[in-house]
Amino acid sequence: MKPGIYVVATPIGNLGDMSPRAAEVLSAADVIACEDTRVTRKLFGLLGLDAKKDFITFQDHNEEEQAGFLIDLVGRGKVVAQVSDAGSPLISDPGYKLIRRCREQGVYVSVIPGACALICALQLSGLPTNRFMFAGFIPNKDKARRDLFNQLKGIEATLIFYETANRIVKTLSAAAEVFGCREIAVAREITKVYEECLNGTAAELIKHFEEKEPRGEMVLMIAPPQKKEAPEIDLQELLRFELRQYPLKTAVKNLVERYGLNKNEVYQTALRVKDE
Ligand code: SAM
Repeated sequence: MKPGIYVVATPIGNLGDMSPRAAEVLSAADVIACEDTRVTRKLFGLLGLDAKKDFITFQDHNEEEQAGFLIDLVGRGKVVAQVSDAGSPLISDPGYKLIRRCREQGVYVSVIPGACALICALQLSGLPTNRFMFAGFIPNKDKARRDLFNQLKGIEATLIFYETANRIVKTLSAAAEVFGCREIAVAREITKVYEECLNGTAAELIKHFEEKEPRGEMVLMIAPPQKKEAPEIDLQELLRFELRQYPLKTAVKNLVERYGLNKNEVYQTALRVKDE
């Protein structure tokens, strides 16, 4: 096999998704650059691959220095396979800086494709696939999360984010404020036994997760804006959501400011919704 860096995808939950070519490359490689040697050694064991080779830790924090080391190995005729703990390397995982340096230095790079959580999630979601934007992990801080959503709100593409179970409800609350009643999909446990994809407004999904504790790995997706967003059509639902968190006056003020609506109309609707 030609010396170089081989970017190898591994399964995101179902061992059967390991391609024969990916297994072949891992088996032939002299060195495996991986995030966590225990995780990758375990994968080798499950696949019945020979684990008697060099496993090198390759993570965000040591990527710069390890990149130089791995490129030197290739220069000495070695085959280096780079893997993540799961899924496609470089996608919210280490590897970009290494490949950039390989490109600059004319080092041979090849990719062995396979599972990628964001693509699988999009395929499951039923949201538009013709144009999408992957924005990685959502910040953990409230303000940063809202700022990010506000930045991306006008983009005419399906938005895709990686998210964790313990943060999903907070994230959906921010999404409800910024995206109103836009369709959202949460795909979880993809390729595993409990794989599912839930679609609804942020408020509906919050309700779902209040009743059923969120678990597992998940991908959050937000539909593109409608050509002509008409929040008044969903005013009642927006109000129901606001009124669960704020007193009537604040709820009305929030929606008037957010969507530039007629204050009296929102107020009258809010009174009706409150009486429901
Ligand atoms: N590089 C990997 C890829 O693109 O396939 C993703 C690595 S990133 C560190 C891990 C995140 O990917 C998780 O927090 C989750 O958002 C998503 N993810 C990974 N596996 C998943 C699965 N089986 N189901 C749903 N989301 C998953």
